[in-house]
Amino acid sequence: MENKGRVDFCTACRKETNFTLQKRNINKRIKDKEYTFYITVAICDECGEEMSISGLIDRNIQEVDTQYRDYENIVSIDDIERLMKIYKIGKAPLSLALGFGEVTITRYLSGQIPSKEYSVIMKKALSSPAFMKQKLNENKDKLSPAAYNKAWNAATQLEMLFSVSNKMLRVISYVFEKLEEVTPLMLQKLLYFIQGESYALNGKPMFSENCQAWVHGPVYPEVYDLFRDFKYNPIDDARFAILEGTEDELSHEERMVVDLVVNTFGEYSGKMLERITHEEEPWKLARKGYADYIPSNEPILMESIGAYYVKKNVEYDFSAEKGIKKYIKDILY
Ligand SMILES: [Zn+2]
Repeated sequence: MENKGRVDFCTACRKETNFTLQKRNINKRIKDKEYTFYITVAICDECGEEMSISGLIDRNIQEVDTQYRDYENIVSIDDIERLMKIYKIGKAPLSLALGFGEVTITRYLSGQIPSKEYSVIMKKALSSPAFMKQKLNENKDKLSPAAYNKAWNAATQLEMLFSVSNKMLRVISYVFEKLEEVTPLMLQKLLYFIQGESYALNGKPMFSENCQAWVHGPVYPEVYDLFRDFKYNPIDDARFAILEGTEDELSHEERMVVDLVVNTFGEYSGKMLERITHEEEPWKLARKGYADYIPSNEPILMESIGAYYVKKNVEYDFSAEKGIKKYIKDILY
């Protein structure tokens, strides 16, 4: 198929020409520090000169801003808006609640770059309702009772919702980012495999929760509560906006564990994953004395998952997708 490309006026060629958008690195000094940013440029297909295209400058300002915030670990405007949304609090009261000046958040929303110190506070508030409550209490006398109560209640609800460990939340968030559609059943099984894979590769569990041997396979009860409303549907809910971005705090090794599981086990349906877990020793051990459809809350101890996956890793090599895929096939067929 022929691609006509994009056309605009080239000042070097003095006519309309096709151009191609390309990435280019630029160096920029900000506050005595040297940064390399990539920007987007339009290159004339005929003469190879850079062309000025409308909208490109705005786009590059945006791109550089985002990259600078990433480099310096500075909270984004989206995150600040998210903060207001999840705690049901306006700009001024949020500012005051966090111990900032009344108009600080307003200035950040219009583009002013937050300091690192304030970024840390906002990021922490975003990922921890408990921290938000602490801040609300510290600055209670600066807020109207209505604003305080509304934010306090929102934080309490979130806290209940997020009763699982931080690590678990980060892993779930990362799984959501990697897989388009995840049902609660599928997520439960993936978490179990992630725990096993973590033992196999890193010799330790990924998170501190123990799962239980329910009728349909291993279940992390806290996670079950979190997503129970979705039943057999893919998980998708604005309440979980708080999870977005938190996967940043997974280490390289931890991400690798999740990547490997998502790229292998993640290709199967929840039902198939359930079948796999039912064939594995940790499940069988925990279900001893229970007939197939008898409910049970017996824990599947993480040590048991660990021992099994360490053993299978020796046999299959779980550090590569190939090894895991072979393991899955052997179990299923
Ligand atoms: Zn040209």
